[in-house]
Amino acid sequence: MKAWHGVIEEYRDFLPVTDKTPIVTLFEGNTPLVPAPRLAEATDARMQIYLKCEGFNPTGSFKDRGMTMAISKALETGSRAVICASTGNTSAAAAAFAARAGIRAFVMVPKGSVALGKLSQAAIHGAKVLMVEGNFDQALTIVRQIAERHPVTLVNSVNPFRLEGQKTGAFEVCDQLGRAPDYHLIPVGNAGNITAYWRGYREYHRAGRVKELPRMVGFQAAGAAPIYENHVIEEPRTVATAIKIGNPASWGPALEAMKDSRGWIDIVTDEEILRAYRLLAREEGIFMEPASAATVAGLIKLVKAGRFEPGSTLVLTLTGHGLKDPDTALESASRPTTVPPRVDAVLAQLGL
Ligand SMILES: *Cc1c(COP(=O)(O)O)cnc(C)c1O
Repeated sequence: MKAWHGVIEEYRDFLPVTDKTPIVTLFEGNTPLVPAPRLAEATDARMQIYLKCEGFNPTGSFKDRGMTMAISKALETGSRAVICASTGNTSAAAAAFAARAGIRAFVMVPKGSVALGKLSQAAIHGAKVLMVEGNFDQALTIVRQIAERHPVTLVNSVNPFRLEGQKTGAFEVCDQLGRAPDYHLIPVGNAGNITAYWRGYREYHRAGRVKELPRMVGFQAAGAAPIYENHVIEEPRTVATAIKIGNPASWGPALEAMKDSRGWIDIVTDEEILRAYRLLAREEGIFMEPASAATVAGLIKLVKAGRFEPGSTLVLTLTGHGLKDPDTALESASRPTTVPPRVDAVLAQLGL
């Protein structure tokens, strides 16, 4: 088996790097594309369903694909510090890759809306973490202003290199599947990833690597659905904090991706998200964070509504690992039972 060297080395021909670009990598990418037969059974057994498990990246989310590019390019231009606003995963990835590069990271997260795992990652990698008494959209406005006026590189997905790195997710799906799927389902927050995947599919198609193009189907949480509702949401609400965004940075490009691919965007409620979250963990053995489960919830909703032709091949991006958000996991599952250290007491609990 050939060793994997991270998404830049593997897909160099498709990325804006040169021999002079210092590559900062944690050997991200090469995440498994896992068939989901139980999910197919629970929805429509005629569907071919695959899960692109992006939670298995080095910092536990797809953000690593974009961050290897953003940090490498920042280093190439001599930057010594990066800054971002984040619902958690961007800050975790920025902190890790900045540590790897030996530069500083400043991250701003909305107070009370960041999952515990993500916050601990940014902290342990040595980033300066600021918790803003406001939401993500406000934090992004602030860091954009700072990056315009000070010697620090913005590594949110408005940084064009982020999406360049993230498009490698689509390349991998094609390489693993031997074709492009009929439909690609993905959660939508800032809408960068749906834009990046569509760009990746188009580039692979243009290069003759695949003959097909998928339809892109995005899912927003019902309480944070600006694109679906076609207006900014001032106070977005959802248990899926990674997609708790009221004014997506890549709104326009995401609309284009949907139009070009003849796809669409839909919404799922928190209740549907949490049901899908438990189903994925219990039936498929895959623990992903709530924002990722939005995609599974969307799948269940749309299969029921007959939106996919029988026999279709569907790929779902599961964006982040479940361990990112242990609080939601414990709240969503039955609590551990405390027992005295005696065999009879344990047996009584087990019903054996
Ligand atoms: C960032 C993120 C999203 C949303 O991706 P966008 O590119 O902002 O649309 C979804 N899920 C997880 C786990 C994320 O970290």
